[in-house]
Amino acid sequence: MVAGSGHAPPVRRKKADGMTLLYTSDPERGRIWREIFAAEAPDIAFVTPEEMNDPAAIRYLAAWDPSRELLERLTSLQALFSVGAGIDQFDMSKLPPYVRLVRMIEPGIVEGMVEYACGAVLTLHRGFIDYGLAQREHRWAPVKLVPAAERRVGVMGLGQLGQAVLKAVRPFGFALSGWSRTRHEIEGVACHAGEAELDTFLAHCDILICLVPLTAETRGILCRKTLSKLPRGAVLINVGRGGHLVEHDLLSLLDEGHLSAAILDVTEPEPLPQEHPFWDHPRILLTPHIASMTRADTAARALIANIRKFEAGLPMDGEVRPDRGY
Ligand code: NDP
Repeated sequence: MVAGSGHAPPVRRKKADGMTLLYTSDPERGRIWREIFAAEAPDIAFVTPEEMNDPAAIRYLAAWDPSRELLERLTSLQALFSVGAGIDQFDMSKLPPYVRLVRMIEPGIVEGMVEYACGAVLTLHRGFIDYGLAQREHRWAPVKLVPAAERRVGVMGLGQLGQAVLKAVRPFGFALSGWSRTRHEIEGVACHAGEAELDTFLAHCDILICLVPLTAETRGILCRKTLSKLPRGAVLINVGRGGHLVEHDLLSLLDEGHLSAAILDVTEPEPLPQEHPFWDHPRILLTPHIASMTRADTAARALIANIRKFEAGLPMDGEVRPDRGY
């Protein structure tokens, strides 16, 4: 559970007078952000840790995983902005309860995920993993084509990314379904909600895409119990987080032939250790957590827009709800 999920609104500490943002992430992106802040939001001071003279003047922090020590020094902090789409990397217990936590929502992340997911779905749909194996063995081995309308694609997680992926694969004609915590209605998609409908959802996925956030409820959700509910021969695309997958369950289901392939963009830990069995598995395609990446220019503008919303007392895009943990 996220810190700050108590009932009474926590009391904020002293508000810093100016608007100062501390940036502690990738220096290359930082250079672009600095230019955009200077040009488009000159009233917001943009500083790096080396330039921070007065920690008590910092009102906003943009970071991937700030240390407890840094957070303790930022006595006027009001909002912590993740530089990525996920917030599972934060140790919530380090975070004072009055600090608002915001994940990154920006068009670059969505575009990247849509490209990756379409590529992965088509790779699996058209049997490229099998053709790769056949090529290495010098086998000319065409496989009967399954029409897209007979291939069922299901997305776990119907948030900004899950919905964008469904919209992008729809024109190919796949039979689409989705699963989320609360009920959604999406044109052309059979939507399922909650644990009670998970088995029905899984039973109708030839291609399963994981796009839920990593929370206490979803850790280990891709395990023998759930993956064995997929139809025989189904395939998995995990673009959520490595912590969603129980690795030895995937390996045994692949080896038993219940699953026929997996495309994994995320692992736990990252990078994947050298001796890990995923590296050499013939039916696993691995990518190094690149499905989508925060794009510097669009992200800077999304952050400025959120700071403006915060200053105006409006809800921010991507604000984490403490009661849900995402
Ligand atoms: P959103 O918060 O917009 O959507 C999350 C979705 O997951 C919602 O539909 C939500 O349900 C559903 N969900 C959450 N918890 C549960 C649960 N316990 N049971 C069922 N459904 C649940 O997230 P995004 O779409 O922006 O991102 C999803 C994840 O993608 C990120 O958290 C991150 O881990 C991953 N990601 C990976 C990247 C990569 O490069 N591999 C890049 C970017 C993100 P409801 O709609 O009911 O709230």
